[in-house]
Amino acid sequence: MSKIYNVGIIGGGVSGVVIALELAKYGVDNILFEQEKSVVNGPPFCHLHAGGNLYPDISDEECKTLMKQSIDMARLFPQSIDERPTFISVPTSEKYEVNKIEKRLKMLVEYYTKLIKEDSSNEILGAPKDYYKKYTKDDLIVLAEQPTVKHPNSPDEWMSNTVKLIDHKKLKTPVYLVQEYGWNLFRLGAQAQLALNKTEKCNLKTNTNVTNIKDVRNKNLDYNWEITTKDTVYKVKYLVNSCGFKTGKLDNFLHLNAKRLIEFKAAYVSKWQPISGLIPELIFHGERGTPNGMVQLTPYCEDYYQIHGMTEHITLFKNGLIQSKSNEPQPEFNDAINQKLDHGWKKDEIETRTENAIKLVTKFVPTFKSATTGGIPFYGAQQIHGDNPNLRVGEVSFPYKTYARSEIIKASSALTVANKITHKIQEEKIIPLIPKSLNRNSLLDSVSKHEIDKLASELAIQRGYPEALSRLVIERK
Ligand SMILES: Cc1cc2nc3c(=O)[nH]c(=O)nc-3n(C[C@H](O)[C@H](O)[C@H](O)COP(=O)(O)OP(=O)(O)OC[C@H]3O[C@@H](n4cnc5c(N)ncnc54)[C@H](O)[C@@H]3O)c2cc1C
Repeated sequence: MSKIYNVGIIGGGVSGVVIALELAKYGVDNILFEQEKSVVNGPPFCHLHAGGNLYPDISDEECKTLMKQSIDMARLFPQSIDERPTFISVPTSEKYEVNKIEKRLKMLVEYYTKLIKEDSSNEILGAPKDYYKKYTKDDLIVLAEQPTVKHPNSPDEWMSNTVKLIDHKKLKTPVYLVQEYGWNLFRLGAQAQLALNKTEKCNLKTNTNVTNIKDVRNKNLDYNWEITTKDTVYKVKYLVNSCGFKTGKLDNFLHLNAKRLIEFKAAYVSKWQPISGLIPELIFHGERGTPNGMVQLTPYCEDYYQIHGMTEHITLFKNGLIQSKSNEPQPEFNDAINQKLDHGWKKDEIETRTENAIKLVTKFVPTFKSATTGGIPFYGAQQIHGDNPNLRVGEVSFPYKTYARSEIIKASSALTVANKITHKIQEEKIIPLIPKSLNRNSLLDSVSKHEIDKLASELAIQRGYPEALSRLVIERK
């Protein structure tokens, strides 16, 4: 008789791998299906949203959740965290009141202090008193006269390097430097894949597309679901759908309906002239979807910079955000977007959109006009459950007994979802009660920096990106 797995997980993005690793940590056998060659190969991520400071419109509660979840993920995958700060500013052209930023930052400092009191290992963003620093117009004028520092060590050094490059007359003051860090997807993918390969508790099936699911819960068998791939049918007691923007396809097999949005977006890789000192990630806020949409310039190694511009000609796309219909749980993109998702980008479109992105950055960083296209874009589609496009914290739902559906919006929600699923599997008596929950994951801890460096670099090259993008700007010990 073929093996019966406790848990079958479909989709090896950040959500699926964290679920598989958490179950394996507790000795729960599982099988993970990923249609691509390697895991964490879906939509990109580059920013650890440890406080939600890129989203002026979300609630304080969402900001706190993003901070807590980001800390949890950074503790699991420390080698993927790039400890450079983020510069936050509001252009004079924008309505948003700059003093609202500080009110929220103060609330976040209080919350971060509480998290550290609960568990001192939560202190991964530095000391709470250093979580942010405010800079007035006068401060900026003074810092502009300071020498540039190649490897900045203090907020003032980071800010001094920044102020010499930006046109700060176009910005409201004060501006802020916040300890929201970079997040390297190649390094997270490498650590996850290496850890999964080390455990016999997870059967990782890459290059394996799931083509159907059969519900056999009422047949009085020792298992509840049959998972069909090209050449095999697998039996599992508990089913997890972590298919990302294709979550609705599995719902379709199970005759389930649910409201969801999916959104296609892209960020562009550029190469700039060498500058004298490192800079933080630069954020210039702006109204999403308008020609003044938010600009985000993310530094990588070897003078590579990634650009998001929240306008329809850069990161967003016409008909890029679509909703499921009443009788179809899986929304379908138009042909132009499907073409990119399935076959990649045409060269001229890469050039045009990257040039648009560079031009937008030039508004605030004049010398950035010398930047050129540095590679293929990072792109993909993400899912949002329900119908609120401004939601930033995704979750898990349990529409049937022994079926969980993960629909995270930010990569940081992955561990929260994994914990909820682990809890539910015990509650539904698929596995005995776990006597003691563990914060650390020994499988992930057993992967060395050297192993991560090597595989992350191979993954970047395999996926067509410059190898430098697999490294951290701030090298970790
Ligand atoms: C441009 C852009 C920038 C972003 N930036 C950030 C950021 O800075 N920070 C952040 O936290 N988040 C960011 N996000 C969001 C983040 O990318 C997603 O939240 C996250 O990747 C979702 O992970 P997931 O595991 O749920 O889904 P996915 O990563 O989409 O994983 C789903 C997996 O399922 C597989 N799959 C689907 N169907 C099948 C099948 N039938 N059989 C086998 N395998 C299947 C797919 O191949 C895929 O690998 C960004 C998203 C975009 C689009």
